[in-house]
Amino acid sequence: MRAAFLYQGRKGLTVETVETPSCGSGEVLIEVRACGVCGTDVHLSEGHIPISLPKVIPGHEISGVVKQVGAGVSTVSAGDAVIIFPQIFCGECYACKAGSEELCVKPLIYGMNVHGGFAEFISVPERVVMKAPAQLDFSERALFAESVGVAYHALFARGEVKPKERVLIVGVGGLGTNAIKLLKGVPEVEVIAMDTSQEALDRATKLGAHAVDPTKQDPKAIIGELTGGAGVDLAVEFVGRAETVKSAFRLLKKGGRLVLVGVGQERPDFGPIIAMASSGKSIIPSFGYSKKSAQELLKYVSDQKISFSDSISKVFSLEEAPEAVEQLKISSGSAVRFIVQPTRS
Ligand SMILES: [Zn+2]
Ligand SMILES: [Zn+2]
Repeated sequence: MRAAFLYQGRKGLTVETVETPSCGSGEVLIEVRACGVCGTDVHLSEGHIPISLPKVIPGHEISGVVKQVGAGVSTVSAGDAVIIFPQIFCGECYACKAGSEELCVKPLIYGMNVHGGFAEFISVPERVVMKAPAQLDFSERALFAESVGVAYHALFARGEVKPKERVLIVGVGGLGTNAIKLLKGVPEVEVIAMDTSQEALDRATKLGAHAVDPTKQDPKAIIGELTGGAGVDLAVEFVGRAETVKSAFRLLKKGGRLVLVGVGQERPDFGPIIAMASSGKSIIPSFGYSKKSAQELLKYVSDQKISFSDSISKVFSLEEAPEAVEQLKISSGSAVRFIVQPTRS
């Protein structure tokens, strides 16, 4: 098969021909139809994240069709359209056993220590394979495999969003946009979206959210007006900067919940502990998504008929995978989603 490799100590990807992976007992061999190109792939190809194999295939936002199943596999069969979990959780540690597979203490990470989806085929354990929703195409399913799943888990599993709540979305890139789309299925939720890019704000407005640019407007005043001075019930932060995290916390009502999804190295200062304690506000980190969230999301997307096709900016062939990663590196705006299609139906 053809596959794109990262080499230890070398920048960029190289496409080459290697043997098609075998399908062992308990494993599923998948023909990869679409694999999202993510910022993580850029960091890997630039050597910012070390890889632990001499050469490895990156790509962790994978959808495809089951080609073959190994002995003992019972949940999928040849011909099924599937989505693969963005990491291979072990299924045995305390986190996996508690249903928090996203917090697995010994995961295998595609592109670091296990081969990923920039290849015609991939062989993975059955536990990380999910049947795909029929109404989405393969590229949308690849997005689903990570960014839609992450947004769903943050809103529903961690944030426990409820009908009629006022929800603040901080950062309307890919994840934030998915979050606003997903909130359409929650009755009478009012969404306030905060971003500094006009393109992002327009996207939010088009999806029915109140758009706020904190560099031009006072978010506290606008949210105060919308909530009778109280603040929002739930804020979900997708940016990962100290300033935006602090501002999201400040815009919560007393007892409100702040879910942290965006990642970064900065350190937010929440002020005196007495003020934090007496506010009753919760800070809830959210990372990846669990198998339970994925299963709920599969049903939710089918019931709500949500489409994600407009999130895809460009499609590349497998031979063009090195170029896709290179282009993502120089493109600005987190809403840009590139897809590599290693095989076509
Ligand atoms: Zn990713
Ligand atoms: Zn585990």
